[in-house]
Amino acid sequence: MRLQHDALIVGAGGAGLWAALELAKAGVDAAVLTKLYPTRSHTGAAQGGVCAALGNLEEDHWEWHMFDTIKGGDYLVDQDAAEVLAREAIETVIELEHMGLPFNRTPDGKIDQRKFGGHTRNYGEAPVQRACYAADRTGHMILQTLYQQCIKAGVKFYDEYHVVDLLSEGGELGSGGRAAGVVAYRIADGELHTILAKAVLLATGGFGRMFRITSNAWSLTGDGIALAYRHGVPMQDMEFYQFHPTGVYGLGILLSEAARGEGGILLNGLGERFMERYAPSMMDLAPRDIVSRSIYLEIRDGRGVEGKDYVYLDVRHLGRKLIEEKLPDITDFARVYLGVEPLTEPVPIQPTAHYAMGGIPTDLETRVTRDELGTVVPGLYAAGECACVSVHGANRLGTNSLVDLLVFGRRAGRRMAIDVKGGSMPDVPADAHEASAAELEGIRSAAPGERAADLKRELADVMMDNVGVYRDEALLTAGRARVRELRERYASVSVADKGRTFNTDLLEARELGYLLDIAETTVTAALARQESRGAHAREDYPDRNDVDWLVHSLAYPASGGPVLRHKPVTITTFQPKPRVY
Ligand SMILES: Cc1cc2nc3c(=O)[nH]c(=O)nc-3n(C[C@H](O)[C@H](O)[C@H](O)COP(=O)(O)OP(=O)(O)OC[C@H]3O[C@@H](n4cnc5c(N)ncnc54)[C@H](O)[C@@H]3O)c2cc1C
Repeated sequence: MRLQHDALIVGAGGAGLWAALELAKAGVDAAVLTKLYPTRSHTGAAQGGVCAALGNLEEDHWEWHMFDTIKGGDYLVDQDAAEVLAREAIETVIELEHMGLPFNRTPDGKIDQRKFGGHTRNYGEAPVQRACYAADRTGHMILQTLYQQCIKAGVKFYDEYHVVDLLSEGGELGSGGRAAGVVAYRIADGELHTILAKAVLLATGGFGRMFRITSNAWSLTGDGIALAYRHGVPMQDMEFYQFHPTGVYGLGILLSEAARGEGGILLNGLGERFMERYAPSMMDLAPRDIVSRSIYLEIRDGRGVEGKDYVYLDVRHLGRKLIEEKLPDITDFARVYLGVEPLTEPVPIQPTAHYAMGGIPTDLETRVTRDELGTVVPGLYAAGECACVSVHGANRLGTNSLVDLLVFGRRAGRRMAIDVKGGSMPDVPADAHEASAAELEGIRSAAPGERAADLKRELADVMMDNVGVYRDEALLTAGRARVRELRERYASVSVADKGRTFNTDLLEARELGYLLDIAETTVTAALARQESRGAHAREDYPDRNDVDWLVHSLAYPASGGPVLRHKPVTITTFQPKPRVY
């Protein structure tokens, strides 16, 4: 089937929904395609908060927020982007409030705010209360609020349509072509739809499923990033992947940093508050990369609990009232998944793969760029976790992702509304969907071969063990060889379900292909970057090296594996300094 809309949005998380809302408000014919029912998007799982320098409880300024974001990202942040983020955070959060989002309140009725890692008063003096929140269900409330507004504004939704390819006109997306629409697989019956559009926004979220222990939902497989890459658009800064310090031991389910923002602490097997050793002033509220490494070092030195590979998150001293009002969900997770009562017992935790700092390169207007000069791919946009603008640099601060969705989702919608006015509808050949049809049919009808589930498990193990919190040349070289071997085996992947109705077996095999592309660029970029910066910690290059490596990396597809190029970091205000907390 062939359809068309002026603007298409792939993804119904916070970024996609806010963009859709802006387009609808501007009177543009826009549609959202989503492989999940919209309110199942991962944004709904976000817990702890969304930050904005509102200053409701104490003095705060967007300039302080901008600085914290840049220092938190270990100076790999593009500072013009961090300025946009910190400034527009304030008006977007207030706009959300006016849409009806039920934030927690201060006694005098303002939006309540709490502390989060790396957010400080006066350029690093002490933790500041900047995270706005709705208990520990902030993302759920954002997603519901935006979805309601989209329904009210009449946004068209294609629910459970899995986008399997991007279309272009006048050449490939990476070499001068213009985005022309998408090919989508309707999950209910396996029918392929070609949908043309003047503007396409990728808002497909992250790819934590590349790792064994992760906080990310099953669906987070990096689809948009890999699809753009297959058409020549580079992946930026892929070596920077964030491990969140506090995942439920053995499972990776997230226990929000809000637990520490509210005063929870980390304890090793000896009952010591070990963060004193690693971040004497910010302690448990140091940025995530630092806390995750500290936990690893404690465990490595034999100070895990009972010599095992976990430590404790302790919230007992916060008391029942605070916990029930401000941390209800995450304490329930500890009860349900571990059988631990957080009111009376410390909770076993370990770092969990959580957030992609890297992704599809864009400019401040969310337009996808394809080279070190910032050349725009006409008609293609990206926002949210799949994009790299770059506001998070080498390490994202907690609560800065939700605000990234709001600020850049809104910018995407506004920019697209301008760009589609007057432009012509692109055209593509009648058989434009044939390549993806053949690939899917190839997997569906393949003779029994490799099982996607096995390959995915092996990939997640390699990435966790070789490309995790600490890396070195030997681990990465071995990791790259294993990923390549898995890629070769993927050529003979097959599925047990040969049907067309809700064939999730087939789609998971397809998603594994995206994860393999992303794993290969991640390990390649990590091997090349001979320094330690933010979340990228090389034991063989333990120091940050601004002389050679204060650059973004861009990975391009090539027959022998990804090829890397570099582009400068935009520095406007804050010169790089040693990063101590
Ligand atoms: C457990 C957890 C807690 C978090 N807590 C916080 C927090 O407190 N504060 C904070 O700032 N950040 C938090 N984060 C991070 C933040 O929630 C995410 O980075 C953010 O929600 C991503 O939003 P998004 O709009 O980019 O994509 P998502 O919300 O992940 O949505 C992706 C969308 O893309 C669609 N999609 C994907 N592939 C396809 C395809 N092939 N075809 C069609 N549709 C597709 C999906 O259906 C979905 O609608 C948390 C993350 C997790 C996992």
